[in-house]
Amino acid sequence: ARPTAPSPAAPRSSAGAPLPVLGLDVEVPLADGGRAPYAALDYAASTPALRRVWDDVAAYLPLYSSVHRGAGHLSRLSTDLYEQSRRTVAGFLDLPPDHRVVFTRGTTDSLNLLAAALPEGTRVFSFASEHHASLLPWRRPGLRPVCLPVPRSPHEAVALLEEALAAAPAGPSLLCVTGASNVTGELWPVADLAAAARRHGARVVLDAAQLAPHRRVSVRELGVDWVALSGHKLHAPFGAGVLAGRTDWLDAAAPYLAGGGAGRTVEHREDGTLAVEWHRGPARHEAGSPNVVGAHALASACRALTEAGRDALAAREEELLARLRSGLAEAPGVRVLGLFGERHPRVGVLSFTVDGWESARFAEALSDGYGIGVRAGLFCAHPLVRALLGGTAARPAPCGASGSPLPGERSLDAVRVSFGAG
Ligand code: PLP
Repeated sequence: ARPTAPSPAAPRSSAGAPLPVLGLDVEVPLADGGRAPYAALDYAASTPALRRVWDDVAAYLPLYSSVHRGAGHLSRLSTDLYEQSRRTVAGFLDLPPDHRVVFTRGTTDSLNLLAAALPEGTRVFSFASEHHASLLPWRRPGLRPVCLPVPRSPHEAVALLEEALAAAPAGPSLLCVTGASNVTGELWPVADLAAAARRHGARVVLDAAQLAPHRRVSVRELGVDWVALSGHKLHAPFGAGVLAGRTDWLDAAAPYLAGGGAGRTVEHREDGTLAVEWHRGPARHEAGSPNVVGAHALASACRALTEAGRDALAAREEELLARLRSGLAEAPGVRVLGLFGERHPRVGVLSFTVDGWESARFAEALSDGYGIGVRAGLFCAHPLVRALLGGTAARPAPCGASGSPLPGERSLDAVRVSFGAG
């Protein structure tokens, strides 16, 4: 027999192994009566929990108790765990030592907390392409929201901000910017925007809801003042989020929630009023019994992602993204949405339209026919999706719902596929 040439080695993945997540062994019913393993491809909405987070939460559940209140052993254990969770998140975000972590319910809550703490008259700049959570909290009495146009390149984003800041009158100002788009997955030039903001004396809050699950976030390197994120998008269950960053404006503001734990001393005066001295630091804004299980789960996810190696996870995600993109490139009538061009880096989030298909029907077909869970709609970023679809005069569609094009009309919304570390 003739010796055969050795077959070329299969291309070796440079990427790390996927992290074990829950929910992958769930079988779902199909329209034809069969069943299929569930393919969770809607991580941008909520990620499945990591196995490691489940284990950590399960070990803690029999032991939880009140935080910052009780003298008993389990109360002290819970308090330690809660404060340790804060330190873990501070390390995960590479915070400078004088910055603090406030636990919230999620990114929306964090940005509303910050909005409530901004000095009177603060101008808040955001691009119209933001998720509504980054766009809407600034519309409140005492603040001056400034909505910048949807940029078509990272360079244009910086130029638009520079121009707006240069034209703004003196006074406190803030830029709220997303790190990675929840619609296109595109990475935003956060460090460049933060540098531009600093040149004009403005501060920056980073909406890292979509960035933190996919990439390392360093507050020091990016030069931002605050970061907001959600546990349920970071492989921990629902209920806990973070606002991390500078303390001066937060300590000067009225507490976001008033109640037990926020007041250092409360006295009843003879004239029938109360004299309250509020805490400084995170406690000022965290009144009530905190979500220690949620904070613990979030911190556990931070540890697991860090230990797995952020670069290795990102490399694997990029391989999956490349496969998805080349598959979609071969599919007829598919148009992938993006602002910054095909070669611009993105995380594992990608939206597209399919000629002749309503997005909602396409997403239903993926679920009913194949057990693949994606999302269709406007993704709580209505101005961005409309800009991406060419300014179609869309009828208003409620957030979370999908518009339905009339026959012959262009698509009003899109299908989104998203995935990550697990
Ligand atoms: N910011 C971005 C970029 C998001 O994608 C989301 C949720 O999809 C949010 C903020 C709001 O997050 P949450 O619903 O956890 O408050």
